[in-house]
Amino acid sequence: MKPDHNQIWSNCLEVIKDNINPQSFKTWFKPIKPLKLENNVLTIQVPSQFFYEWLEEHYVSLLRKTIKHFLGNEGRLEYSIIVENNLDDGKKYSINIPTASKEVNTKNPSVQMPLNISKSVPNPFVIPGIKKINIDSQLNPNYTFENFIEGDCNRLARAAGYAVATKPGQTAFNPLLVYGGVGLGKTHLAQAIGNEVKGQYPNKIVLYVSSEKFINQFIDAIKNNTVNDFISFYQLIDVLIVDDIQFFAGKEKTQDHFFHVFNHLHQSGKQIVLTSDCMPKDLKGMEERLLSRFKWGLSADLQIPDYQTRIAILKNKMYKDGIELPEDVIEYIAHNITTNVRELEGALISLLAQSSLNKREVDLELAKQMLKNFIKNVSREISIEAIQKLVCEHLNVEQELLKAKTRKREIVQARQISMYFAKELTKSSLKTIGLHFGGRDHSTVIHAVQTVNDLISIDKEFRRNIDDIKKKIDMSLA
Ligand code: ADP
Ligand code: MG
Repeated sequence: MKPDHNQIWSNCLEVIKDNINPQSFKTWFKPIKPLKLENNVLTIQVPSQFFYEWLEEHYVSLLRKTIKHFLGNEGRLEYSIIVENNLDDGKKYSINIPTASKEVNTKNPSVQMPLNISKSVPNPFVIPGIKKINIDSQLNPNYTFENFIEGDCNRLARAAGYAVATKPGQTAFNPLLVYGGVGLGKTHLAQAIGNEVKGQYPNKIVLYVSSEKFINQFIDAIKNNTVNDFISFYQLIDVLIVDDIQFFAGKEKTQDHFFHVFNHLHQSGKQIVLTSDCMPKDLKGMEERLLSRFKWGLSADLQIPDYQTRIAILKNKMYKDGIELPEDVIEYIAHNITTNVRELEGALISLLAQSSLNKREVDLELAKQMLKNFIKNVSREISIEAIQKLVCEHLNVEQELLKAKTRKREIVQARQISMYFAKELTKSSLKTIGLHFGGRDHSTVIHAVQTVNDLISIDKEFRRNIDDIKKKIDMSLA
């Protein structure tokens, strides 16, 4: 018998294991799942894009050799990347509309098929026993409230989410709409609500669906002439969670049908949870009647977490994953990665990966080195005051004098260098810069920048000074 994908992959793992250190093996190969083996192509599933890139960058030759060894020269490796929320683990979305309908039918033979949502048809959903329909909630069990660190950035949304989970459909927060930028925890929170409901009310039917998936199912339903079943199915749900509803924009038909589902659920006291990347009023291409429905409940936003919350998120993640890092490294990451939580986690993973790869303990030095890429994107801006302070320290002049009228040579130079850096490193206008130097006007700033540039190009000693100051500025931002 020919070996299957599991067998082949486990053979590969034996070889790989012998060729890399245990920590790297655990970090990079343990999480991989073999999916299938067809025509000598082995498909493996990896948890993220980052993961895939990492494997390609660092283990490609090892992988290639190993695959060749077990599958021959024709052997190839393909990756399947889990794009969202670890849900799509290769198997098809498992909502089974016909089964659900049949169940309804056998329990109550008087119900007409196909199920119709118009009022004249008896409502099939009050039948006892209907709740036994086995619907996979499509939830990721790791997204819990416990793991969702609270901070000022998310307090309202989190509290509302918890209230909704405790009393689905019975609070004023219906629908609950959670909105915020990318990577700030919308999916996590929405799924935490679902998981919490399932914990507290095992009989309630919870369903998490991304809006894209909803749209695709709807398109399929049109194709297969099963729109009524599609709608009926959604009307069975007790807690419906639709992620990223901004993708409904411009999809009028989908919106129409979602509108029906929404109304039905809302009227029957079922809970609706929505997420979006912007406030409802900024949702473009959305029908007015749908928008006004969204406003019935509560809209709560997720903001970028502050420093303390970032620290708490990192520590929580480390604790969960059994990682230990020195305090100054954690602080360094939290201090520098200020865009969103996903990047915060990404920085942590990449640091860990680097350390396992280099067989080196993570220390501040390594963290600085490794996170350069992350931080470059973030590029924090230094203040004009901070520039003045550093320049004056370096040149040994009194900072206050930069604002004074004095034309002493070394003061003038310190002033010009400070202006130069202010222009280079901040987004401040010439006028604003001038104001920070005792109300000098913009032409003075232009002249200063020009002078410094000229000196840099002709005076080695001067250039070295400028470089040294620049280094100090960079350090102060690190
Ligand atoms: P979004 O859906 O808003 O783009 P996600 O919910 O996918 O963001 O969150 C990105 C990552 O950050 C996830 O791994 C999530 O677990 C994590 N995360 C976000 N907010 C928090 C938080 N408050 N506490 C802990 N982890 C969080
Ligand atoms: Mg999301």
